[in-house]
Amino acid sequence: MGITLRELLDLAGGVNGTLKAFSPGGASSGFLPADQIDLPMDFKSLREAGSMLGSAGVVVLNDDTDMVDAALTQAVFFEDESCGQCSPCRIGTQIVRQALERYRGGDAQALTYIREVAWGMREASICGLGQAAALPLTSAMKYFPQEFGDADE
Ligand code: SF4
Repeated sequence: MGITLRELLDLAGGVNGTLKAFSPGGASSGFLPADQIDLPMDFKSLREAGSMLGSAGVVVLNDDTDMVDAALTQAVFFEDESCGQCSPCRIGTQIVRQALERYRGGDAQALTYIREVAWGMREASICGLGQAAALPLTSAMKYFPQEFGDADE
């Protein structure tokens, strides 16, 4: 509790390549950029950074990573894991995954309204899964806007 990513990486033997992004607490915590490497990974610091400790399963991405692909991988996970009880999560996770697939397929406008979808999921889903399911995408768009074209505007 409270260790920084820099300290954790030192203990783990470093990064293969150059650090680009990381998830401090698994899929639900979204992505943080490499410049947050000295952020203490505790409840308060991560909440203030717009993330969370989540499962505390730290995921490290190097600069070979395509953030659209990374967000899509998480979107597929959340769509699979949604139990379907409430519509903001059941439908929202489908929309996020489909939008990312369309964007990756060349549709530059596919993510235009995704922030509104993400807001609805965060505010109206019954449990934490749906509330966090769009965070990988919205955090990737926030910190790596160049990989999402005009979608962040
Ligand atoms: S938010 Fe929770 S309860 Fe609602 S569909 Fe998703 S997993 Fe089920």
